[in-house]
Amino acid sequence: MKKMKLSLRHLIIFVALLSVVLTLVGSLWSGYHTGKHTLITNALETNRVYAQKLAETTDLFLKSTLQTLQFSSTDIAPFMQKDEQKLLDEANRLKMQNNTFNSIIITNAQGEILATSPQSLQIKGKMLVSPGGQQALKEKKPLISKPYTAITGRLVIFISHPIFDKRGNYLGLVGGTLYLKESNILYELLGKHFYQDGSYVYVVDGDGRIIYHENQQRVNDVVVENPVVQKLIQGKGGAERVINTKNQDMIAGYSYIPIADWGVVSQRPADKALAPATEMLKDMIQKSLPLLFLSLLLIWWISRKIAQPLHQLAYYTENSTENSQEEHIEKVVAWYYEAIQLKKSLLHSLVFLHDRVNYFMYQSTTDPLTKLANRRTMEQQMQNWAANNVPFSIIILDIDHFKRVNDTYGHPIGDEVLKFLAEQMKEASRQTDICCRFGGEEFVILLPHTEKTEAFHVAERLRMSMESSMSPCGEVVTISVGISSYPACTSEIAKLIEQADECLYNAKKSGRNRTIVFEPRHE
Ligand code: GH3
Ligand code: MG
Ligand code: MG
Repeated sequence: MKKMKLSLRHLIIFVALLSVVLTLVGSLWSGYHTGKHTLITNALETNRVYAQKLAETTDLFLKSTLQTLQFSSTDIAPFMQKDEQKLLDEANRLKMQNNTFNSIIITNAQGEILATSPQSLQIKGKMLVSPGGQQALKEKKPLISKPYTAITGRLVIFISHPIFDKRGNYLGLVGGTLYLKESNILYELLGKHFYQDGSYVYVVDGDGRIIYHENQQRVNDVVVENPVVQKLIQGKGGAERVINTKNQDMIAGYSYIPIADWGVVSQRPADKALAPATEMLKDMIQKSLPLLFLSLLLIWWISRKIAQPLHQLAYYTENSTENSQEEHIEKVVAWYYEAIQLKKSLLHSLVFLHDRVNYFMYQSTTDPLTKLANRRTMEQQMQNWAANNVPFSIIILDIDHFKRVNDTYGHPIGDEVLKFLAEQMKEASRQTDICCRFGGEEFVILLPHTEKTEAFHVAERLRMSMESSMSPCGEVVTISVGISSYPACTSEIAKLIEQADECLYNAKKSGRNRTIVFEPRHE
């Protein structure tokens, strides 16, 4: 089985995909985080502004409440100790008209309660002993008290204004209470949320005690360790991300209310504020999908274009046959430097290789002097024909008295005579015949599909041409010839050569310069 090899194309695809995925994830990640950062910044700002707005509203409300009490104190000053009905009417008016307070109390300078609204409180004639009341009587100033538990057992805040006569004598106070754990004016002022998604608002006093919370259970809790409340206690406003008592990640805006030394906090769950980031991420992924798909297609196509020439070169080098290799490699479209160079050098080395192979083939099959086929080629050729049942004749010839030529004219001239004979052999034979140098000055012509009579004609043509032409040594050189046929005379190659040689021998013996054909009857 062929082992799976890692290809250039796979590597290109891998690298390209890796870079596309990394870039995509990187941009999505940074987009997501930038989006988140923006959302948080916006949410912080929104909550800061909202808390500030609520603080201003509350501040205004408290100011106007104190003003209302001030007007009232001026109105009722002439009736103090004289007209209880007037005081009662005023208490009722304050309670009913403004709808600010849960109850109204008017006391004299000693703190004796002169009138209440509602009367159902049943504390008229009693002394005002609550901390808020005591403080107001003592300080004789407009006051917004700290939360405390009243005689009635309720958690309240007492807002009061002193009553003075025209000469500036202190006559008592008029004040209203807010029942913190019950529905009060603060719920109307602060209870409207801009989001219905877990956002909420709460108000703390200067000690970090909750005086307003949408969840009334939380009212009176001290949350002084909350970092936002810490800031409010220091009179600061702003916005930050906090973890609330339920361990929720919240975006909080906060603002200080100077008139009452209170602070208001507006909070929104961070996950709600960040929800659009997830949507945005989904949107970004969705929008980048077509581009991603296009990139993948492009990667697929480009990797193919880049890898193809090298792949083909490698494939043809490995798989083509020796003959078709060059042709295949020639067809490879190399369009960039490395491929072009590789193709070029492959073709060069193939040409070089073929040249070398041809050269060595030629060397091993050819006689260097006469350029005729050598004895080995001759024998191979005969074996081939015999194996393929190709009938053929063999002509063996030998130069007459060649020693003499050598002796008379020298060896080099003898060589020239050999070359001359080779030329004559080629001329006398046909295209399909094969001329060989058999030994020193002995030669062979193989004639496929040729009977001995026909071979005889060829031999005679050669012999006569030698006889009638001047050789390079300056004299006529003749040849003696022997002929036999396969398979007419014998079906053994060795025997065939023997027979032809025997005829040659006979030709020599019987006077040279003649051709003798083997006759089976001689056997
Ligand atoms: P015969 O007529 O009986 O054939 O007489 P011959 O002199 O030709 O005798 P033989 O065939 O035995 O002689 C062969 C000679 O051929 C001997 C050798 O000197 C010469 N010879 C063999 N090969 C070469 C060669 O490559 N070049 C040259 N110049 N001479 C060669
Ligand atoms: Mg000889
Ligand atoms: Mg000879």
